[in-house]
Amino acid sequence: MKLPIVAIIGRPNVGKSTLVNRISETSEAIVHDEPGVTRDRTYKPASWQDRDFQIVDTGGLLFDDDTEFLPLIREQVFLALAEASAAIFVVDGQTGLTAADEEIANWLRQQSVPVVMAVNKCESPEGGLAQAAEFWNLGLGEPYPLSAIHRNGVGDLLDGVISYFSPIELLPEIEEIKVAIVGRPNVGKSSLLNALVGETRAIVSPISGTTRDAIDMVVERNGQTYRLGDTAGIRKKKKIDYGTEFFSINRAFKAIRRADVVLMVFDALDGITDQDQKLAGRIAEEGRACVMLVNKWDAIEKDSHTIYEYNEHLDERLYYLSWAEKLFVSALTGKRVDTILDRVDVAAAEHKRRVSTAVINEVIEEAVRWKSPPTSRQGKQGKIYYGTQVKSAPPTIVLFVNDPQRFNDNYRRYIERQFREQLGFTGTPLRLLWRGKKVREVERSGANRAVRV
Ligand code: GDP
Ligand code: GDP
Repeated sequence: MKLPIVAIIGRPNVGKSTLVNRISETSEAIVHDEPGVTRDRTYKPASWQDRDFQIVDTGGLLFDDDTEFLPLIREQVFLALAEASAAIFVVDGQTGLTAADEEIANWLRQQSVPVVMAVNKCESPEGGLAQAAEFWNLGLGEPYPLSAIHRNGVGDLLDGVISYFSPIELLPEIEEIKVAIVGRPNVGKSSLLNALVGETRAIVSPISGTTRDAIDMVVERNGQTYRLGDTAGIRKKKKIDYGTEFFSINRAFKAIRRADVVLMVFDALDGITDQDQKLAGRIAEEGRACVMLVNKWDAIEKDSHTIYEYNEHLDERLYYLSWAEKLFVSALTGKRVDTILDRVDVAAAEHKRRVSTAVINEVIEEAVRWKSPPTSRQGKQGKIYYGTQVKSAPPTIVLFVNDPQRFNDNYRRYIERQFREQLGFTGTPLRLLWRGKKVREVERSGANRAVRV
């Protein structure tokens, strides 16, 4: 799900950048990486009442430095407003209504974006109401008196802003799930592909993939479509005899990069080999969701301990995929093949999932209460100020701390476990970025420079 965008507009010196900094100060300057949105450093993350959003200052685009309102409104302003869920129109309550304000208001009234009016520099709440009154004349609804410097009134403004956001969907609807089937030769990929295709209702068509020789197969089940990537690669060796030793790891790496969810296939008879580890490592590195398939389960002699022991073997050899679900299947008999796409659905949804800043901080508070961060020999204790999810696919959470070095691997793993226990994220890698004060300051000043265009 894309984060809502809020565009800030107004003539120079009304306090736009002061207000942007005030609104985003609790969120720090992390640039969100969202596909399909024109991205530059003027977007700043922010949150209010459980809603995360991004804020963009269009000021530098509309105005030629501190001089005059440019009649020629640049395309970028249209773009910023087109993708915005709401606009904040900032005016100066001390100066009062100006011709430039009216010009902007006229233009804003013709746009479809909802507008919330911020009457800035109203330091006194009582005086502010009087100062704000004349801005009713602009016909853009209620003017909110506030002071970006003194902070009063900013909360009421944001209540107004988020009322225009569409309701949160934490589990996004997923259109097409890109799946890659990877594994060493002879583990049963091609047999599994056939079994999977047999499970699906409508085979839409085999269609050409992103590279010339990669044929993707699109299948559908229960209204969900899956693009099975690079199926030609899986089937090729049936036609051309490479010998069983031939294994294009590059091809597998490419397939992993293109996928949302990787079906990592193992041969139950062989156990986990070095090549398996290499592929699994790449899946984790690329941040792809994954379901592990231990195939040929029919060929294993089993007693009541077998699955348990095999699980241990997998955990030991593939600890960096410990978050992935494991399925013990047989392409030959069809055992549990019908559950594979169910697990793919879960992994894909969790991979794209967004969790609000409020929930993340609840988990952190709870975790710290149970187990305090380590204290250094000098008696300085690690402190987590707060966390926020900056990205999905895979979910990436930044933790702002006093000093990352105070958090050893042990404690970091503990925090990650807490996130998984409380929030799930089954089948997807979860990235935690530990940021200290120094990094934050560098980032903040860098972003500020960018905001001023
Ligand atoms: P921008 O050009 O719209 O981005 O405006 P700035 O954020 O750079 O602010 C312009 C001037 O207004 C600066 O001198 C700020 O210190 C001042 N300013 C911003 N917010 C307030 C406020 O709430 N009250 C007062 N009195 N001055 C403010
Ligand atoms: P690929 O190279 O990974 O595509 O593997 P194939 O699908 O060509 O299978 C390799 C060999 O393993 C073939 O002889 C298959 O018949 C056999 N095989 C595949 N799946 C299973 C299974 O679930 N059980 C058993 N016993 N054999 C299997």
